[in-house]
Amino acid sequence: VPVKKPKTDIGPPYYYDMLPEIIKENYGKWKYHEKIKPGVLKHVSENGAELYTVRAGSPRLLSIVTIREYADLADKYSGGHLRFTSRHNVEFLLSDPANIEPLIAELEAKGYPVGGTGDCLNNIIHTQGWIHCHSAATDASGPVKAVMDDLFEYFKKDDLPAKLKISMACCLNMCGAVHCSDIAFVGIHRTVPTIDDAGVAKGCEIPNVIASCPTGAIRPNPKAKSVMVNEEKCMYCGNCYTVCPSMKIMDPVNDGVAIFVGGKVSNARSGPAFSRLAIPWVPNTPPRWDELVVAIRNLVEIWVKDARKGERYGEWIERIGWEKFFEMANLPFTDKHIDDFIFSVPTFRTTTNFKY
Ligand code: SF4
Ligand code: SF4
Repeated sequence: VPVKKPKTDIGPPYYYDMLPEIIKENYGKWKYHEKIKPGVLKHVSENGAELYTVRAGSPRLLSIVTIREYADLADKYSGGHLRFTSRHNVEFLLSDPANIEPLIAELEAKGYPVGGTGDCLNNIIHTQGWIHCHSAATDASGPVKAVMDDLFEYFKKDDLPAKLKISMACCLNMCGAVHCSDIAFVGIHRTVPTIDDAGVAKGCEIPNVIASCPTGAIRPNPKAKSVMVNEEKCMYCGNCYTVCPSMKIMDPVNDGVAIFVGGKVSNARSGPAFSRLAIPWVPNTPPRWDELVVAIRNLVEIWVKDARKGERYGEWIERIGWEKFFEMANLPFTDKHIDDFIFSVPTFRTTTNFKY
């Protein structure tokens, strides 16, 4: 049993106090687990105790109404206990298997799909987007909902070649796990910040703005009591906008989404791998991001059709070869795809002259 921490008013409540009794009684003694069916897991302890997990996909951004619905279901079926996974699933932990089917029926009736376990599409992990963050090149929950609505069927299945993890980040800061996902999409800016000189003069600390630029692209503009940007050096990161709201980086026409493939964090079968660029840019088209949805479905379907059982997305590409992948995906191979990004030797891609 973990050491109990002193009670303070700082931070979340002590997690151990929130565990269901069956987990406390068998803490550290779980022997194995198995999949009963899509969305349902069974854990068995050394003492023979059985714990059932029912997993449902949440809409990711949760309203109070949704959380109350989950809490009511937990009160009814799982002794008031539930947990959230890092991929925005809600899990109900049941000790009575008789509650599994009634809980699933109620979840599905309310529109929460039960699934996300085994060889299926996991719920998409994403960042904050327009709901909160200032440097977003696209929204997060909006395109993720559009993509997930389209791929919904794959969440409830357990018969894909392997797990399919899709991630999303709304700028290159990449709060999401975009660098190491089977398929990843990331918002990108493609134009230099526009400078509102009067706003910079009134509201920004110029030395701070100059220091914020990782490539040294910003110089003082003493006449206007502002700054200027050297376009050749700018890599559109938006860092200057973080410290100075009068240097707007958002551009509704040129901002868009890049799509990467083939990454994973798992060590199973083959080592972890970084995602690589497949599609350099698709336009930012709210509210349903049609081009993005079509592009991702195409990427999913060619893998589902051609991969062998157990092959994650990147493992499949390594087997067939990247050239064949681009052919099957019907994608052009361009200068943007040249993968020579290493820090030990300067290359075109490591310079700021490399532009999307
Ligand atoms: Fe903000 Fe970028 Fe993170 Fe999106 S990925 S939440 S824009 S820092
Ligand atoms: Fe510098 Fe980034 Fe601002 Fe461009 S967007 S000027 S690279 S801080």
